[in-house]
Amino acid sequence: MKKNVVTISGINKSFDGDIALKDFTLSVRDGEFLTLLGPSGCGKTTLLRIVGGFETCDSGEIHIDGQSATGVPPENRAVNTVFQSYALFPHMTVFDNIAFGLRIAGKTNSEISKAVLDALKLVRLENTRHKMPAELSGGQQQRVAIARAIVNKPRVLLLDEPLSALDYRLRKQMQKELKELQQTLGITFILVTHDQEEAFTMSDRVVVMDHGQIVQVDSPRAIYEEPANLYIASFVGEINVLDGIITGRGESHYVADVENVSVIVKSKRDFAIGDPVHVLLRPEDFRIEVMHDLEESSTLAKKFAKALLKGTVESTYYKGATYDVDIILNDGKRILVTEFFDEDSESLYFNQGDRVAVGWFEGWE
Ligand code: ATP
Repeated sequence: MKKNVVTISGINKSFDGDIALKDFTLSVRDGEFLTLLGPSGCGKTTLLRIVGGFETCDSGEIHIDGQSATGVPPENRAVNTVFQSYALFPHMTVFDNIAFGLRIAGKTNSEISKAVLDALKLVRLENTRHKMPAELSGGQQQRVAIARAIVNKPRVLLLDEPLSALDYRLRKQMQKELKELQQTLGITFILVTHDQEEAFTMSDRVVVMDHGQIVQVDSPRAIYEEPANLYIASFVGEINVLDGIITGRGESHYVADVENVSVIVKSKRDFAIGDPVHVLLRPEDFRIEVMHDLEESSTLAKKFAKALLKGTVESTYYKGATYDVDIILNDGKRILVTEFFDEDSESLYFNQGDRVAVGWFEGWE
């Protein structure tokens, strides 16, 4: 296990009596890409600003590299911050913007020149060093801001929604670049975002926050597949919630009855036989078949032997590689199913009004 580079212990912070962070405790590992994810107002930026030294806390402590950061101003912490607004000096060239901190630190001209050119190379902007910020695109300006933040090789880079001002395509590209940069440098990155996809694409671990507290800290996959509660399940992607009753348990699973269908469900929580539960299903977990296809094909019928939630297609949404199908189950409940295009299948689409059987192959007993 890698050692911790930042430890955040029992941080509390209120603004005019409103709690922004409540007894917040977290250890950030050396060299990891960690993301703070949560809805607007949950305290992500406040936490980042406290780590960066731009905000004080009411109680609690931050240690960076084993040293208490209490009372240490931002410029003396081994962390740099990249903000959403690039915050470049408009009257300075790209080179001078990146060199600024090194000049203040009293580095020699040749040291500065080498460090700035190295940083520009890492963000692939070698040819822009004589340009002014206004001559660059938004993506290029943000790369300059990142180059400026890594030029003095901080232990930790704090990134506050650094990509949110960019358009969708550029944001996707920059997500990959940032991840690669982090891996090349081996610096610890702490990113703030409210975009789940962004958090999942880049992070080793994601911290899901709500109302100033941690709800779950885990790998993106664990958070998606084993969310700690309904709040997280519905915050990270679409989720269907069906009512079930626990009817049995195996070594690593439970059996639940969902509308008279036995399904295998996984949970780390303790349940007793007879307990009512919410069974959470991602749209891509389901498979659907039109009822009359099922009646005509014995192979399909076998596959769907026990998967017999029945319903009617309400609408379909084309999404490119996949399509979504809204289904109203016989009991009136609405579910969302994501279907993948199957080249062998003649019926790519379900149509409004189709009577369908809904199941999921994996997990059905
Ligand atoms: P967003 O994604 O919208 O930036 P966030 O999760 O980063 O949200 P914070 O900006 O940390 O949330 O804000 C947490 C809470 O603290 C909010 O209720 C906010 O209104 C409040 N807050 C933050 N900074 C200040 C401030 N300087 N003065 C007063 N209240 C503040």
